[in-house]
Amino acid sequence: MSADRATAPAPGTASVTVRAPAKVNVQLAVGGRRADGFHALATVFHAVSLYDEVTASTLPASASGEQGTVRITVSGADAAQVPTDGDNLAARAATLLARRAGVPGAVHLHIAKDIPVAGGMAGGSADAAAALLACDRLWGLDTPRATLLELAAELGSDVPFSLVGGTALGTGRGERLTPVEVGGTLHWVFAVADGGLSTPAVYAECDRLRRTDGGGDGEADVPAPEAAPELLAALRAGDAKAVGAALANDLQPAALSLRPALAATLRAGREAGALGALVSGSGPTCAFLAEDAEAAGRLATALEASGTCRAARTATGEVPGAVLLAAADSP
Ligand code: ATP
Repeated sequence: MSADRATAPAPGTASVTVRAPAKVNVQLAVGGRRADGFHALATVFHAVSLYDEVTASTLPASASGEQGTVRITVSGADAAQVPTDGDNLAARAATLLARRAGVPGAVHLHIAKDIPVAGGMAGGSADAAAALLACDRLWGLDTPRATLLELAAELGSDVPFSLVGGTALGTGRGERLTPVEVGGTLHWVFAVADGGLSTPAVYAECDRLRRTDGGGDGEADVPAPEAAPELLAALRAGDAKAVGAALANDLQPAALSLRPALAATLRAGREAGALGALVSGSGPTCAFLAEDAEAAGRLATALEASGTCRAARTATGEVPGAVLLAAADSP
């Protein structure tokens, strides 16, 4: 029997599906490396309508003999690139929640993957956020929101935003969130690349470029990262043209250094009339802003015809963070 979201009772629930969105950083200001190895960030996260779905189901008794067994399966075009062992961020989320709540934590997590893998769109973080919510519900824990956000921050800098969604300024290493007002729907096109980029490798390249370009110890001179007032004003006004002009990503030179072909992708989108273009997060996905849905469709067609990307996906923002889609009771 299938029951609808929050109204379904948790006891006896056998499977829960949660959907979580991808993100684009409309601004990513990267400060110096902190003592803990993370970089200080000021970043404006924006959730967009590309989603992964995570279904958490009770493992049959035969499979759950071992305390804490998490079984991961993945479907979708990029499924082969997603780890199915304990390294999967969704598995780590389930294990962390179980440990914190003192429950056995045996669960099967199925990830229906639509967010590009290692694409700078926080796909793994979306799955972790979705797994936290889904397992919380499956195990009937009713964990307070503040605790879920703490667990999310332990799992990764982008995970709290995947829970919250919308548009938010992230400070610290990106995990401290303040909502940002957006005055209208933004229409996006995402050019998906062949192969991913490792986020730590892109940060390392950013540090290397700063040392080389800045001469001497370039990192010591990096100013404290701050949100750009003109971007925040443009978002508040829902002025897509002004948002397009204010898009900024300090990791872009590093992503372009590691993947020079992305320059052609960004150029193709700009030449096809994008209001703004940038590498999404650590890349290699490139994000383009369009005036409206029709312009986004035209831009996607032009990008695919340019041969500079694997595929072009249209999406809108902002959208909510992780949400419960369905809960099915055990027979
Ligand atoms: P971010 O934008 O948060 O830096 P990303 O979008 O660039 O991340 P992800 O799709 O999250 O990258 O994947 C980064 C790496 O994490 C992958 O190469 C993969 O090995 C690993 N990974 C672990 N769990 C997952 C998951 N559930 N989905 C995708 N990748 C995962």
